Amino acid sequence: MDLTRRGFLKLTAGTAVGAGALGFDTRPAEAAVPALKVSAARVSKNVCVYCSVSCGVLVYSQTDGSMNAKARAIHVEGNPDDPVNRGTLCPKGASIIDQINNPMRVTKPMHRKAGSSEYEETTWDFALDRIAKLIKETRDRGFQATDDKGQTVNRVVNMATVIGSQTGNEEGYLGVKLNRALGLVPLETPARI
Ligand code: SF4
Repeated sequence: MDLTRRGFLKLTAGTAVGAGALGFDTRPAEAAVPALKVSAARVSKNVCVYCSVSCGVLVYSQTDGSMNAKARAIHVEGNPDDPVNRGTLCPKGASIIDQINNPMRVTKPMHRKAGSSEYEETTWDFALDRIAKLIKETRDRGFQATDDKGQTVNRVVNMATVIGSQTGNEEGYLGVKLNRALGLVPLETPARI
């Protein structure tokens, strides 16, 4: 059979046609292939947490079907629709599922009391109040209303912020707004560090 490339593609476009015309039947082999492990999984879009490239990832998760069961990630791959990485992941990003499922992963706020060497689990309410209090105290200590020449500057010189590269546009916008409102001058992102 003398086939051009285009002719070959046309011929094999349908399995039934290809099976007959090319002399072999792939249907039994296709039927024997087990269903993909992700076929019944829920997929959600996310961003790799490891570096400032911020590659898009697809996280496939599944439960055991029982009531109120917690979903468990079973597979992670690059998101082909993400303009940053177009489906690719570096080896570190490709292993991110081990971080998601790591039993030692910290998923709750932790607090180390003054004088203690141990961190203890605490609540988000406590953590957020504590962070807000410390930010306020630090800001008040470092606030400058005017500079050496008496010019109004309204700036804070003892704090800086690094906003995560994993944040989206809106979160980044709000982060800059909040920090500028506090008077912070140095704002950074890991993408520039
Ligand atoms: S996949 Fe690799 S390059 Fe992409 S964000 Fe993660 S660590 Fe960075």
